[in-house]
Amino acid sequence: MTRRVRRGDRDIQAPDGAIRTLADESSYAVVLTGTDNHIRYVSPQAVQITGYSADELVGMDPFTLIHPDDQDRMRRLFAALRSRPGATVAAECRALRKDGSLWWAAARGTNLLDDPGVRAIAVTYRDITEKKGSDDLGRTAEEALRASEERSRLILATARQAYIAIDSAGVITEWNTAAQFTFGWTRVEAIGRELAALVIPPRYREAHTRGLKRFQESGEARIIGKRLEFPALHRDGHEFPVEFSISLLRHGSRYSFHAFVADVTARSRLEAALREGEARIRSIVESTSDGIMFVSADGRVASVNGRAQQMLAVEPAAVGGTGFAQALEQIGFGPQDREALSAAAQAVLGGRREDYQGDAELPGRRLVLHWVARAARDTIGELTGLTFTLRDVTQDREVSRMKSEFVSFVTHQLRTPLAGIKWLLELAADATDGQDARTYITDAREVNERMVRLVNDLLDLSRLETGALQVDVQPVDLGALTKSVIAELEPGIRQKGHTVVVTGDAGVPPIPTDARLLRQVLTNLVSNAVKYTPPGGTVRVTMSRDAERVHWSVEDTGIGIPARNIPLLFQKFYRAENALAINAEGTGLGLALARLIMQRLGGDVWCESEEGRGATFFCALPLERRPADHPSVDQARLDR
Ligand code: ADP
Repeated sequence: MTRRVRRGDRDIQAPDGAIRTLADESSYAVVLTGTDNHIRYVSPQAVQITGYSADELVGMDPFTLIHPDDQDRMRRLFAALRSRPGATVAAECRALRKDGSLWWAAARGTNLLDDPGVRAIAVTYRDITEKKGSDDLGRTAEEALRASEERSRLILATARQAYIAIDSAGVITEWNTAAQFTFGWTRVEAIGRELAALVIPPRYREAHTRGLKRFQESGEARIIGKRLEFPALHRDGHEFPVEFSISLLRHGSRYSFHAFVADVTARSRLEAALREGEARIRSIVESTSDGIMFVSADGRVASVNGRAQQMLAVEPAAVGGTGFAQALEQIGFGPQDREALSAAAQAVLGGRREDYQGDAELPGRRLVLHWVARAARDTIGELTGLTFTLRDVTQDREVSRMKSEFVSFVTHQLRTPLAGIKWLLELAADATDGQDARTYITDAREVNERMVRLVNDLLDLSRLETGALQVDVQPVDLGALTKSVIAELEPGIRQKGHTVVVTGDAGVPPIPTDARLLRQVLTNLVSNAVKYTPPGGTVRVTMSRDAERVHWSVEDTGIGIPARNIPLLFQKFYRAENALAINAEGTGLGLALARLIMQRLGGDVWCESEEGRGATFFCALPLERRPADHPSVDQARLDR
């Protein structure tokens, strides 16, 4: 009878019934190995001896059942047997059970490949473990144990880490070479001594003794298996930090403690240095005037320094840990800036760029920020994230905008008169009549004078703005100064048929101030009143004083100023709508200069007006100089 068993892709044949019965009933384990070198059949005894099930054994390579040390020898024998049909060989070998345990087998193999009923190599095994016995195996086990102990001792003795063992009374039983280096005591000196007395600083000895006692009484040992750091005592008396882990060994009723100890002085120092370095960097980051935002490698906001919190008006808790793109939206950047910033972050974090920079606006806060995104790397160059440095450039951008506006203004203001002068001079050169030539030259001189005034105003303005203008303080008679200004402007006043009235000048005492600068203020105010008043108007200059200040006003009956223009009147280059409409010549510098001068002199100037109903400009100057308010005034005198 043939039984077909399917196993994987192979068809294997169980032996013929007679042989199987024989095999099954034999006291030997029988294993049949087919031509494919795999087990085809196993007897129940084989299952019993090996611990594998029949299913597991069938299909297996028979040599996996043999101890690795004996496999080569058995393979050689088996190969020889295969080539000799009908032959039989016998051998003893070590074999392995499924649980890994060892047994000794007496094997006898017969080549029955030629036998049409079998077509296999039949091997019978007998368990001779007992006979091989206690002697052989026992000896091997004992030898193995001894060898392993020897090996352990050697490892411990030569370990680079200190190894100490103590018994239950706390007396040292092992002390390797590294322990000698760590603690200063030799093995001979240490063994037999109490551990506490040798390496534990006095203030911890009692706790150590208590711990040992507790263990003796209750078996409770809190420190076993944990990694601990503690101060230890060196032979020379200095303390140093050690890290150790303790294990417990029981030998029957006795036990011992074993510890590996590492001197971590260097590490502690390094950690302290790291902590110090970190604190230093944190204080630098916090004290810098730049905003700094750190984005981790996974694209999340990791930290925001104080300045950045201030600039972006964010709480670290609100953006910390959130994705960068989300944080940008929360902060209030516009869509375009968000896109640029995110793209920069991606390029840097993706390793495509080392740095990136640009400007971004916070419209809600009227801020322009210049940002630089730079890859942050650790000491071995690995990318750890990216640093965003933010600088408030709102003012810089405003200044450069104003500069370009200024340049275009000045160019415009100078080009027209220059072209005029050129034209007048050409006419004068070509004139055949001497009188004509003189008229052209006089006109050219006038235009030229206007240009000189403009340039002087600009120069004064810039000196006042930068604080470079020197103030020469002398007692000044305001009434006399006003009259002299009016006399100078007389031709224009007369031309327009204005009446000019000065009152109150007798009651005003001399003021300690700079006559040249004050004259400039008065000239600007009176000439504006003349200029912005239609012919036949009245210009009134009124003076008075109180306990602290001298006041005066310049009032006219002219075009006045629209209410909405008044707040901007004292800005550079600013001209009211109605003044532009009547096309009166002007630069918008006179009032800006007047305000800067009055401030510099410690006084004030302001305006009240109604459109179409004239304008009044008010001024005030202190009766006494307050040097504290204007240190540069004193400084200017000292400098001379
Ligand atoms: P400018 O007179 O050269 O234009 P100012 O700085 O002196 O420049 O004056 C600024 C603007 O203030 C003038 O352009 C004008 O609109 C307005 N302004 C000044 N003074 C008067 C005034 N007395 N009446 C009406 N508008 C005036």
